[in-house]
Amino acid sequence: MCGIVGYIGRREAAPIIVEGLKKLEYRGYDSFGIATLDNTLHLDKHKGRISENPQVASLLKGKIGVGHTRWATHGIPNDANAHPHIDCTGKIALVHNGIIENFTELRRQLLSRGHLFKSETDTEVIVHLIEEAYGRKRNLLDAVQEVLPLLEGSYAILVISLTEERLIAARNASPLVIGIGDGENFAASDMTPIIEHTERAVFLEDGDIASITRGKIEIFNKNNPVSRPVELIDWSQEDVKKGGYPHFMLKEIYEQPQALYNTIRSVDMDNLPKILRNPQSVTVVACGSSFHAGLIFKYLLEGACGIPARMEYASEFKYFPPPVEDLVIGITQSGETADTLAALRQAKTHNCRTLAITNVLGSTICRTVDNTIFMRAGPEISVAATKSFVAQLAVLMQVINCLCGRKCDDILQHAHQAIEEVLLMDLTDAVNLCKGASDIFYVGRGPFYPLCLEGALKMKEISYIHAEGYAAGELKHGPFALLSQETPVIALCMPGETYGVMVSNIKEMKARGAPVIAIGCRTDTELSDIVDIFIGLPKTPMFVQVLTTLVVLQLLAYHTAVSLGCDIDKPRNLAKSVTVE
Ligand code: GLU
Repeated sequence: MCGIVGYIGRREAAPIIVEGLKKLEYRGYDSFGIATLDNTLHLDKHKGRISENPQVASLLKGKIGVGHTRWATHGIPNDANAHPHIDCTGKIALVHNGIIENFTELRRQLLSRGHLFKSETDTEVIVHLIEEAYGRKRNLLDAVQEVLPLLEGSYAILVISLTEERLIAARNASPLVIGIGDGENFAASDMTPIIEHTERAVFLEDGDIASITRGKIEIFNKNNPVSRPVELIDWSQEDVKKGGYPHFMLKEIYEQPQALYNTIRSVDMDNLPKILRNPQSVTVVACGSSFHAGLIFKYLLEGACGIPARMEYASEFKYFPPPVEDLVIGITQSGETADTLAALRQAKTHNCRTLAITNVLGSTICRTVDNTIFMRAGPEISVAATKSFVAQLAVLMQVINCLCGRKCDDILQHAHQAIEEVLLMDLTDAVNLCKGASDIFYVGRGPFYPLCLEGALKMKEISYIHAEGYAAGELKHGPFALLSQETPVIALCMPGETYGVMVSNIKEMKARGAPVIAIGCRTDTELSDIVDIFIGLPKTPMFVQVLTTLVVLQLLAYHTAVSLGCDIDKPRNLAKSVTVE
């Protein structure tokens, strides 16, 4: 999982690639590197982040180049393991996103044939194999074409050679898009580095290999020429900049009313995929925040429509598929989450109908499933998912709305207004309580339970405070032993069926000395009297309560992390798009 960028054209390549890599850093940021060509091959690669160290790389000369921002899978982050990797002749350079599963055997063979390896990566075998094939073919496209069948695993690669004026691009199970310019062309892991140069893009498919020159793009699959549609990508450049906010995460939190509004309207209720009509049962596969969105969906769907739904971690489903039938829904922001893709492929082997919910047009998942619904949340740069989560909920709520005879039309059309109100709330007292804690518990019932999981996940991933979400009734079965004055509890306690029992739970926690922050309805005076900090939200129907509560939890995690000086948009050890298992 990493970002790759390539350029060929009339301008200097390095500054374009450096700017592109900075935009892709959310995909991986432990090391970076660039190679360019003029009459020699120039290389510059380092451990660390390109945004902190772009000087040397920008100065490389040449109008053809490739670059990489890495998230290591094989070999620690250091200068040698950073990409691009170079062959023994020093003429061919390659960047790679993905994992070569059979690299140990390939490396052994290459070593026995006298190749010298400079890194510990799985990637380096590819460039030496291309070197050998180039020796035979004397043509870079043919050489790469010969090597691809030897590789097992996932890859998006860009290759350049001193001997040719072109970029070769190929993909299998890792994303790669080509941007079409005027007398210049681009290639990248996604559109974010490309859109400031062109809106026109071609998404490569698995098995595709492309030859990209200044004025021509040729694509082949299994040695046959193929044509892929040119898509117009209407993201504005502003969409990928911070727009005046200190962090992408805050910008994206504030974009949620718009994302919700757009998504609710873009789901075409009259033309929802046929597979969504009258399902007997639904299985949802997902990872991370998308899993939590799926779990909220399960509660709401079963409550509103009586259709049984089950949630499965995609990473488990692939290896331990339960007996599934009927409809399987995969949720992934990037459309590239390896585990979710694998689970959906597995579901297809069980003859299930498959549906994907994703944010990225042209992503791999769209070609894997029977039908796709796009969330249209726009690009999400911050590693911690926020607006894509809201957009996932918007799609899922629209699906429920459709299945229950559009009873929620009015509610969903106006839901964004309640979120706008919540964005203005002052959470200082709650932040002050959380920032001093080493452990925080989140408790709720029904659809608020997965919200607890999501709130705790946000807190963990960006503030590094240990946080756990529990179904409120479960706290007594063990975790109560951990409660003390040092462990704040965040209780989600909205009006409804479980209100009374939640209030009893809160009293039990207070009796153990835990400070309680309650999120409830603004008009609730009973709750505000019992708890330490009360956060009152507008009175709304259940679907909207879920959304407004979520926004409070996101803001709480964000402001707590800011007050602790954390790296908000690039939390340690994480990457945005988990394209490996
Ligand atoms: N597997 C390669 C490596 O460890 C590529 C990782 C990536 O996708 O960033 O260098």
